[in-house]
Amino acid sequence: MRRRQTLEYLALLMGSLALALVASWTPLGSQIDKDTYDWHFRLYRPPEWEPQSILLAVDEESYRVIGGIRGYRAGIAEGLELIAPSKPKAVALDIVLAEKGDPGDDRRLSEAIRRTPNVVLASTLLPNGVWEDPLPIFREAAAGVGEPYAEPDPVSREVLLHKAAGRERRWALALETFRAGVGKPILETQNDVQVGDIVIPSRDRVLRIRYLRAGVPQVSLARLLADHALARRFAGKTVFIGVTAQTAGDRLQTPYYEMMPGVEINANVFETIANRLFLTTAPAWGAIVFCLALVAITGAAFSFRSGWQAYSIGAAVVALASVAPYYCFTRSIVLSFTAPVFSAWLSVAAAASYQHFIVRRRMLSAEGDKTRYQQAMHFVTHEMRTPLTAIQGSSELIGRYAMTEEKRKQMAELINSESKRLGKMIEIFLSVERLSAGQLELKKELFQGMDLMSGCVNRVRPLADRKQIRIRIEPGPDAPLSGDRELMEYAFYNLLTNAVKYSPQDTEVVVFTCRDGDRVRIAVKDQGIGMDQKEVRKIFQKFYRTKKAEESGEAGTGIGLSIVEQIVAQHGGSIEVTSSPGRGSCFTLVLPAQKISSMVESQ
Ligand code: ADP
Repeated sequence: MRRRQTLEYLALLMGSLALALVASWTPLGSQIDKDTYDWHFRLYRPPEWEPQSILLAVDEESYRVIGGIRGYRAGIAEGLELIAPSKPKAVALDIVLAEKGDPGDDRRLSEAIRRTPNVVLASTLLPNGVWEDPLPIFREAAAGVGEPYAEPDPVSREVLLHKAAGRERRWALALETFRAGVGKPILETQNDVQVGDIVIPSRDRVLRIRYLRAGVPQVSLARLLADHALARRFAGKTVFIGVTAQTAGDRLQTPYYEMMPGVEINANVFETIANRLFLTTAPAWGAIVFCLALVAITGAAFSFRSGWQAYSIGAAVVALASVAPYYCFTRSIVLSFTAPVFSAWLSVAAAASYQHFIVRRRMLSAEGDKTRYQQAMHFVTHEMRTPLTAIQGSSELIGRYAMTEEKRKQMAELINSESKRLGKMIEIFLSVERLSAGQLELKKELFQGMDLMSGCVNRVRPLADRKQIRIRIEPGPDAPLSGDRELMEYAFYNLLTNAVKYSPQDTEVVVFTCRDGDRVRIAVKDQGIGMDQKEVRKIFQKFYRTKKAEESGEAGTGIGLSIVEQIVAQHGGSIEVTSSPGRGSCFTLVLPAQKISSMVESQ
């Protein structure tokens, strides 16, 4: 029973773990994970770092100064011409130069690109799966092309390090620009991407973006054109040139819930790479082991502690589950929030309700045992009083009065039979206790089940005759058995007396045997009061008697069948009952058959 409960409890805990993991993979779970990821960003302020990039921003004012879209290429060309002497490390031009413009402007821009160190141009993937590349005039002048788009969800949390269409693949603009600045090729392994001595861990080629809290430094193109001295600020930096004007609409949300121009997001991608600020995802097995540990602590807490202690540990587990992802985040590891939190909550709920339920069940069954025991004690004292009174009375009479020899003999016989009855009653109670405590040693004898049965039938006959009940033994096959003959006889006798006790007058009790493979079946069938299924399930409990049995006026303690069941179980057998109210019952003992050869040998 205990074992079953433990298994049930473990299954329940494992079920809550599985449910928690599945729930964390649902769209709702992953949305909560994303929201907590953003929340961790706002909660935790990592140490600021020295930016290695700078924006040359085409803002509203710049648009005005360069004369709108038409003056764009000339404006950028002039900007490049101004910053080139300061020797920026690399320049990312986050503007797609795919269409022809004014030939003079195009030539000027191409020349400016050639003269500026490591310029990388933008190339985007069109919805039809074709790369929109810069015109050859620009491309030839540049150090490379890169893909500038950060996929918003709708928050820009990560960027794909490469994109492929057909046979052509482009690295992300920021990575390509970083490569151009470092002057080393991009190397790939299954788990990471490497440029120079920087290894970007990204099994799935996805990079989580870190954002400079104070923003990437920027200089407006308009101001640079007006104040050439500003060009010094670009010295040694990686420059991102792009549109920041609000009217251009190229703005995306960051985990800080700010709207940010695409070019600045690219600069932040660059910062993440250049400063090695990688946020890695905790391995799946690690997360599962952590959740398992939470569930195990909860399970242990609720099975070894009770009340407020268990609940306090449960609360601590929930707190730990909620804080762990934040702690990991501060250590640059992204751990799912929902998986541990769901595991903690679900396992606490499951463990608490299970323990509550078990405690209640135990209390109820203890109460049930108590009342049954009280009833039994009541009955036993009542039953015992009758023989005791007879013994006391008779012995007193013998001692006090002179009486005839015949009368004295009669009294002595009465004392003898009543004390035997008393002894038997005590013996039965003791044997139940010893059997259930496993203290009763079984003898090993060989005998024929039918012999035993007919012996018992002979003993029950006088009782049956009084009620005009016929007992018939149907001829059947041999039923060779091995075990404790005396106990087995008790079991048979009990079934037979029950059949007679709980049958009305003028009915029949049939006893028969049959073989069922290596088992022997011995059945006692009556035409008595019977029971319904609910009662059948209870009759093996100690002291249980059906209502009809109580009303029948037959004496009984409700203990016999519990002993029968124990005896049969100790012999490696079982007992089957079929019954229907008012029509009769059939009790069948199913016991392992003894091999005939071994019986012959031992005889
Ligand atoms: P007792 O006969 O002393 O009450 P048992 O443990 O032998 O105790 O039986 C338990 C109960 O099972 C009985 O009280 C009776 O309600 C029911 N029972 C047992 N045998 C029969 C039967 N042959 N027909 C109907 N009810 C039975």
